[in-house]
Amino acid sequence: MTQTRLVEVRQNVLKHNDVLARELRIRFQKAGVFVASFVSSPGSGKTAFLEKTLTKLRSQYRITALVGDLATANDAARLARAEVPVKQIVTGTICHLEAQMVSDSLQDWDLNELDCLFIENVGNLVCPSSYDLGEALRVVLMSTTEGEDKPLKYPTIFNTADVAVITKMDLAEAVEFDLKAAHASIQAVRPAMQVFEVSSKTGEGMDKWLEFLQAKFVDGQV
Ligand code: MG
Ligand code: ZN
Repeated sequence: MTQTRLVEVRQNVLKHNDVLARELRIRFQKAGVFVASFVSSPGSGKTAFLEKTLTKLRSQYRITALVGDLATANDAARLARAEVPVKQIVTGTICHLEAQMVSDSLQDWDLNELDCLFIENVGNLVCPSSYDLGEALRVVLMSTTEGEDKPLKYPTIFNTADVAVITKMDLAEAVEFDLKAAHASIQAVRPAMQVFEVSSKTGEGMDKWLEFLQAKFVDGQV
């Protein structure tokens, strides 16, 4: 294949994804399902954060989760501990989720029976930014153990996300995390972005996050 041909194929894949994502978004809205997706690099605590969030919300909402991973169903098993229906999408060699995978996974779920759906993307800060999944809210996470400059290194994902979450706040001191510098790098890439600071371990910051999320549900999305 020539270089031009490759670029064309890639553009068509993205176009197809956008069309599907748009259809998904309409389906979610019609069924009154609030959909949030979560993206971060591997090991930044997405699954722990989601498990905590699901556990807090499951008594009030009909909630489910989709988890994308290159291999293994470990994260789905962990999320299932929150006692909500969870489905794993094993992507194999594909390092991100696509709208088609989300659509395929929904086949035996009745969207009308759901209030919210959480989608945990594959741990990757690069290409998930190009793939709309039909979500209403995209959350980007970075952990205190990763350093402060993730937003500067991966500006596109921060630009396509709606809010940011700094995880593992309980480790901030031990790893000499510079919170001010982290906020500065987020704001440099995405001025006025809302940022939450949480620890899934201690529960610090979870109330604020849950308050924000539930206000989104009430905002007519559910
Ligand atoms: Mg995970
Ligand atoms: Zn990818």
